[in-house]
Amino acid sequence: MIGYDEWHYDVLVIGAGGAGLRAAIEASATGARVGVICKSLLGKAHTVMAEGGIAAALSNVDERDNWQVHFTDTMRGGQYINNWRMAELHAREAPKCVHELESWGALFDRTEDGRILQRNFGGHKYPRLAHVGDRTGLEMIRTLQDHGIHMGMEVHMECTIISLLKDEGRIAGAFGYDRQRGGFILFHAPAVILATGGVGRAYRITSNSWEYSGDGHALAYQAGAALVDMEFLQFHPTGMVWPPGVQGILVTEGVRGEGGILLNNKNERFMFNDIPPLYRNQTADSPEEGWRYTQGDRDARRPPELLTRDHVARCIVREIREGRGSPHKGVYLDISWIREKMPDAPGFIRRKLPGMYHQFKKLAGIDITKEPMEVGPTTHYMMGGVMVDADTQMSTIPGLFAAGECAAGLHGANRLGGNSLSDLLVFGKRAGLYAAEFASQNKAGKTDDVNIQSLADDAVSFFRQADGENPYAVMTALQEMMQDFAGIVRTESELLQAKESLIQFRQRARKVRVEGNREYNNAWHTALDLQHMIIVSEAITLAAIYRKESRGAHFRIDYPDPDPVNGKMNQVIRKGSDGRMHVESIPLKPVRPDLQQLIDEMK
Ligand code: FAD
Repeated sequence: MIGYDEWHYDVLVIGAGGAGLRAAIEASATGARVGVICKSLLGKAHTVMAEGGIAAALSNVDERDNWQVHFTDTMRGGQYINNWRMAELHAREAPKCVHELESWGALFDRTEDGRILQRNFGGHKYPRLAHVGDRTGLEMIRTLQDHGIHMGMEVHMECTIISLLKDEGRIAGAFGYDRQRGGFILFHAPAVILATGGVGRAYRITSNSWEYSGDGHALAYQAGAALVDMEFLQFHPTGMVWPPGVQGILVTEGVRGEGGILLNNKNERFMFNDIPPLYRNQTADSPEEGWRYTQGDRDARRPPELLTRDHVARCIVREIREGRGSPHKGVYLDISWIREKMPDAPGFIRRKLPGMYHQFKKLAGIDITKEPMEVGPTTHYMMGGVMVDADTQMSTIPGLFAAGECAAGLHGANRLGGNSLSDLLVFGKRAGLYAAEFASQNKAGKTDDVNIQSLADDAVSFFRQADGENPYAVMTALQEMMQDFAGIVRTESELLQAKESLIQFRQRARKVRVEGNREYNNAWHTALDLQHMIIVSEAITLAAIYRKESRGAHFRIDYPDPDPVNGKMNQVIRKGSDGRMHVESIPLKPVRPDLQQLIDEMK
């Protein structure tokens, strides 16, 4: 018998990033007993790394902005495959959520007359991102933690959930382990919210940190919930490429928002060469017009560097592939050129982009006020995830909710920068509210000790493997394979190769060997994470095979254009009764006529 501790809550929140904390605050406010679990220390989540800002149509910098424009920008960015109801709720509710954050103590950068300042970002028609220099996520998480801590929630740090538990089809709790001591923990709760963030660790080059092995996606899938849009994985155009140890670390879009330009090794501003028809009317004709836009000229249109991330990333890949890249297989991102335009450019850059200034100075020995940065695409954000009801955030399993990056729908085929932080606030809040309501109407289900014993036994089985591989070796090979065969540019043959090799990876991952004991054993943690990475890799690959067109972040060389039939479908992934992964194409719900009219008017 393997022993375990037990905890009882009304609402259990798995993940303590922006979505998890916002959900926990809302659930606690109803009087529910709330437990929050996080894989690392409280405060160490992707949300804290967010740089550029929170998108919300506050209209502080340009009064022409409103929720309707934000809604249509989000739908256009997502190439109209978004869950339109989520896009509507998000655009309508984001301003209130930002003000709420401010009322809890968040200190945003200010306009001259003291309102929250907003900056330009790719795909947003007007300056829309509320920000705190380039450290917005830090301020957001600080505020949510400070506020949340007074709501009485209990936090379990350095605890990883490895399985969700069900009773007669609805959620009953979760099972995990304490990373430090290695002990198992059983959480009972009638409502569980997944807020576990992204999947970037399944790829070699990523802006994501070690926690992001797609746990929430995999836990939901294993429990029988539907996943959707898994083919849409965002490769952010600008990650660091040099030196090798820092490859993939994000270079915020804020650099381009403040006037940074992309150049190839011929010193050409190549983004002007390829402007998609959907954005032609909104894009500057000349560098001069682009510069005026970044300086707040309301009559100017945005520079092509601020086109959507999927497009900018593909243009960069094209430059590199065609031999016009920088020495370390990137291109140049130059903000130092603004010295031609501003007498105090170095001071301006250090003030507006302090994080980037220090990042390049410390990690690459580059002074970005004087020289260009070398950048290239990096695996960044998962648009796909747990399929949820737009209003309540409940998944296809009663009592199981999901919010933030591990949920899907809002962003469609491509997320606009800044729309994640607002997503966390809007849908974290909704998930907390509706999970608490569900818990108040449903008692906690029963958990089965035989099942718990078998989960625990399964988890420790890696210590018994006689001649398995090292889990790090298998993880590294998986990351290489996903990078090469299911990356930024895809083809049927490579995706089929990925699918085939995932069969081997699944077997190899089941047999990895771990030495030592359960106390702070990183190899054991990796062996367990690997099981989740295999599931999300398989989901990405299968969904990518099924989508035989190019749309947003999903680019197929063999189907380079959007297809009108495919473009009306979502790919839904479920675990079949045969234990295998199944993909089903389901038609999009028709857009409500008033919203469709908005989309048509603003096209
Ligand atoms: P996270 O903040 O990622 O938190 C996930 C939580 O789940 C963590 O607490 C983790 O420990 C926990 N967890 C995971 N698995 C388990 C498990 N098995 N058991 C227990 N706990 C678990 N978006 C913007 O809108 N604007 C920006 O400016 C911006 N900049 C970014 C910069 C960087 C460098 C990165 C990486 C992302 C950026 N993003 C930005 C994206 C945005 O930060 C993330 O999408 C968002 O923070 C995700 O929030 P979340 O609450 O869903 O998850």
